[in-house]
Amino acid sequence: MVPMALSDIESAVICTLVQSGGLTDISVRETTGSCRNEKSEGAGGHVLKKRAEEMSSSPAVLMRLMASAFSVAEKAGDVVRSVLKAGDLDVVAKTGANDLQTKADRLAQQSICASLARKFPRITIIGEEDLPSQEVEEELIESRHSEEVLAQPCPPEYSSAREEELVVWVDPLDGTKEYTEGLLDHVTVLIGVAYEGRAIGGVINQPFYNYEMGPGAVLGRTIWGVLGLGAFGFDLREVPAGQHIVTTTRSHSNKLVTDCVDAMRPHKVIRVGGAGNKIIQLIEGKASAYVFASPGCKKWDTCAPEAILHAVGGKLADVHGNSYTYHRDVQHMNAAGVLATLRDFDYYASRVPASVKLALLTA
Ligand code: AMP
Ligand code: MG
Ligand code: MG
Repeated sequence: MVPMALSDIESAVICTLVQSGGLTDISVRETTGSCRNEKSEGAGGHVLKKRAEEMSSSPAVLMRLMASAFSVAEKAGDVVRSVLKAGDLDVVAKTGANDLQTKADRLAQQSICASLARKFPRITIIGEEDLPSQEVEEELIESRHSEEVLAQPCPPEYSSAREEELVVWVDPLDGTKEYTEGLLDHVTVLIGVAYEGRAIGGVINQPFYNYEMGPGAVLGRTIWGVLGLGAFGFDLREVPAGQHIVTTTRSHSNKLVTDCVDAMRPHKVIRVGGAGNKIIQLIEGKASAYVFASPGCKKWDTCAPEAILHAVGGKLADVHGNSYTYHRDVQHMNAAGVLATLRDFDYYASRVPASVKLALLTA
């Protein structure tokens, strides 16, 4: 089955769409022996040696993926803005009134997944939205990449990572509820990259960044990062020492969430939408901890934000302080909540009430 516009991928490759429990998992595998298999005989040996030299100086797969993901996230941001401008959001309730999907979620996911799958046919891509198999309009495909990202060196620990070892987690529109309510700066596009189960790369596009600056302002920005390299596209700032400013959900709260927030003895609580948005608050010094003591966030919500936060020395984990993993077959739900900080993780972790920990015990 070929669900997306992948017709120009080599015929040696097919794309399978696996749907399980509300996800679209696009993985592409080789099915014929038509991949190039040159023999190292005679002059061929020289050619092979030359190829190997060229390959060693060509950018690592991870950096090529990050460079493409940067441009693909920008394109998805365009889609998110265009759908709003056109005015027909075509909202669908998924599990309930606070779990929404719009035309923008659908088109942005198609754009991201088809664009990345076309360039990286062997990567596993897992998107939030459960979409029917269909051809993706050519105008949704982004084939460009960021030269600036590509120019950055790959951390040596990832330089030999192969396409088939990478898993991409896609939240095409994080903060959908806020998008439908006009809280536009809460909205982000998230593309996270995992290797050996760890979140190692992330791109966050904020399509409506600057929208309150009025007409003429350039809308949108893209933040990205790789573990071991750093994060770019913003100014790293910290909340003044001793100030406990907690950012948490505005639309998915419950008693566990409020109990945990209160236990942090916050000087201030900010209630905003989106996991991506809350991580931006941490790295820009607007909040010191993201506290969400409840199931609800999924791996596509946390992969990109976690990679960027970790790239600047922060930490995202569950309320017990345990890291999440991002293997392709992992449970999607972050069942034991989210606790994230740029600094002082241990202070916040030490204040999580025992009752909250007990309620969020995972198997
Ligand atoms: P929030 O902070 O409420 O905006 O949530 C961050 C991310 O987690 C968003 O993508 C939400 O859709 C998702 N999320 C959190 N709680 C829930 C829930 N109870 N049901 C569905 N999605 C949720
Ligand atoms: Mg989300
Ligand atoms: Mg989403």
